[in-house]
Amino acid sequence: MSLNALAPPVALEHLTPHDLVTYFRCPHELELAHLRRSTAAAPTGAAPVALAVRTPPDVVPLRRSPLEPPSTASLVFNEGRLDVFPTDALVYEDAGEEEELPVLFAPGQVQPDPAFQRHGGNLVDDELGLSGRPDFILRRAGGVVVPLEYKGTHPFHDLHGTHGRTFDVIQMLAECRLVEAVTGRRPPYGILLYGDVAGEGAHEGWFQIPYGDREAGWMRYALATVRQDAVRPPVPAERNCASCPPHRDGLCRYAAARYDGGDLLRDRLHRQLGQFHRP
Ligand code: SF4
Repeated sequence: MSLNALAPPVALEHLTPHDLVTYFRCPHELELAHLRRSTAAAPTGAAPVALAVRTPPDVVPLRRSPLEPPSTASLVFNEGRLDVFPTDALVYEDAGEEEELPVLFAPGQVQPDPAFQRHGGNLVDDELGLSGRPDFILRRAGGVVVPLEYKGTHPFHDLHGTHGRTFDVIQMLAECRLVEAVTGRRPPYGILLYGDVAGEGAHEGWFQIPYGDREAGWMRYALATVRQDAVRPPVPAERNCASCPPHRDGLCRYAAARYDGGDLLRDRLHRQLGQFHRP
């Protein structure tokens, strides 16, 4: 027996779709968010957050994240409403989902699948160390099962900006992977549904995000990139820092802008992270 065979398995750093989005924005934000999470769970008297940050004090800030974005060359945009067919079924709905899906399913089309409730509605991928909750999951003709994310915003808002819809695409690819992990079948695509609430639905539309070998390969590359990054460098920029939750809590020394989260964002974050609330 080799020595390797005796070594205990190395635990993967647990990640979520939101973690990948955060790392794509600023690796240091992810580091601070994880430390805050683990510190909140630690017993009273544990080392303070600042002592546990792996980012060295003399780190050189970056202009962009080391994570290369996924290809968006094959996205398909469909203007208008998402058609739901009589053969479609809603098999999963995140219980914590605040947005109401602007698509009507007949009562007979709501068919919760217990496979998605094994961990209380949290989809878990033990192989890749990933977990999360899509907004919705549909089963379509032919038994194809696909995740659906609903965003109450204009489909082309900031589409070509630095953030743009790339954040949403990253989230979607991670959710496709989670559906694959739970069902054992790779969804051919995920659906990003936009509804312009401010425009009273005048600018609805949806993207079909392909999930094939290239996207599955990107997902493994992304998870490895995050886990292998022992520095988690900051990417200070106004677009990142002005709404950065760790910055709001005074945890970042590299911030390029004052925290400027609106009341809605702040209230939402405080609900999620009540222990860090600062009036
Ligand atoms: S304040 Fe800016 S540099 Fe600091 S963690 Fe947040 S986004 Fe990154």
